[in-house]
Amino acid sequence: MRANIPADLARRSYVGGHPPLKTDVQKWQGILHKQGWGAPHWPVEYGGMGWDPIRLHIYMEELYNADGLDYGWQGLNMVAPVIIAFGSAAQKQRFLPRMLSGDDFWCQGFSEPNAGSDLANLRTRAELDGDEWVINGQKIWTSDARESNWGFFLVRTDPNVKPQKGISFLLAPMDTPGITIRPIESIEGGMGLNEVFLENVRVPRDNLVGEAGMGWTYAKYLLEKERTASAFLYFNKRELAKAKEIASRETIDGISLLEAPEFARKVARVEADLNALEWSVLRILYGERTVQNNDAVVSALKIGGSEMQQRVTALQLDALGARALREYHGTGPEVMAGNANWPAHIPGVAARYLFSRASTIYGGTREVQKNIIAKLAFGL
Ligand SMILES: Cc1cc2nc3c(=O)[nH]c(=O)nc-3n(C[C@H](O)[C@H](O)[C@H](O)COP(=O)(O)OP(=O)(O)OC[C@H]3O[C@@H](n4cnc5c(N)ncnc54)[C@H](O)[C@@H]3O)c2cc1C
Repeated sequence: MRANIPADLARRSYVGGHPPLKTDVQKWQGILHKQGWGAPHWPVEYGGMGWDPIRLHIYMEELYNADGLDYGWQGLNMVAPVIIAFGSAAQKQRFLPRMLSGDDFWCQGFSEPNAGSDLANLRTRAELDGDEWVINGQKIWTSDARESNWGFFLVRTDPNVKPQKGISFLLAPMDTPGITIRPIESIEGGMGLNEVFLENVRVPRDNLVGEAGMGWTYAKYLLEKERTASAFLYFNKRELAKAKEIASRETIDGISLLEAPEFARKVARVEADLNALEWSVLRILYGERTVQNNDAVVSALKIGGSEMQQRVTALQLDALGARALREYHGTGPEVMAGNANWPAHIPGVAARYLFSRASTIYGGTREVQKNIIAKLAFGL
């Protein structure tokens, strides 16, 4: 990976920022695809590697070590497993190769203004009119809607049954007439989030995945698919390494911050907890079958991993002190190089810290995860 990643792309990936440049994501996906690693976690028959979970784990560690991009998330990692498991032969043939090659990017239209944690309450409707579904409603927090050419949507197709039973899983090209996308600026200045308005959006009947009314089941499958990804392990390990690197370069009273006892203790605390998180993930990967369907474990990893994101990025911020506050966005040449007054390890620190506030919200909030643990692990 290190031998094949372009230096400028690796640098932008190191700095971070949400979302990454689409050109970078496309280029990196092309490089991986050429090597046969376009979607290592997919079954071999669809272009995956068929690796066991431990191999995949090693692969992901190396990808992050090389500052490769871990993106294309919504397509390769989320909608693809659903299409593989429940989609028609035509859908597999049409969509999977274009995800592998990086030609298609996907966004996830689940959340609505009144349906986040309470997703089953979603109101966006789709009605069959001849051979077309007509969609009306609104989605929100849709990551990368503007960069994506396809979206997968949860829509209500039957309002007369129990909320979970009336939901279907529909695919729509994002340039379909009637779709309006409005960006939302996030706390660190990124523009990856969006509102998506759907007004008489017509898509072919065949864009339904599986059966009508089964969308909730497919969405649950999608969310459970990457069980251990919820620990954000690879991100956390890379960011801790960066925090240590920053601390080794910053000095206090003439000694490196990494050797200053108070800061060293902070680092050790975070590192010990991250090691524990890693062993929890490895235990699950190693004995994966025994914890199948164990939602409480997944929720515990999500809480541990998302809080860890906030802790490792806070450590970086602490190491820089006030210098981290200076705005330092973008992907311009200054971000690449750094200089004597503005060392290369500063860019991105404040933005990563700020964006990590969202980690305890997306993918199911911390409170909702705690409810799941209370119910499933403790029977409360
Ligand atoms: C950066 C980011 C990216 C996102 N990307 C996407 C995307 O691509 N596609 C998409 O569909 N969605 C996306 N989301 C939306 C995300 O899934 C929701 O924000 C999340 O599910 C929470 O829903 P909500 O924002 O409506 O908050 P709410 O559900 O309104 O929650 C508000 C507060 O109430 C608490 N709360 C809610 N219910 C309970 C309860 N039963 N018990 C205790 N406390 C409770 C919550 O923990 C939270 O603190 C993204 C969100 C973020 C922040």
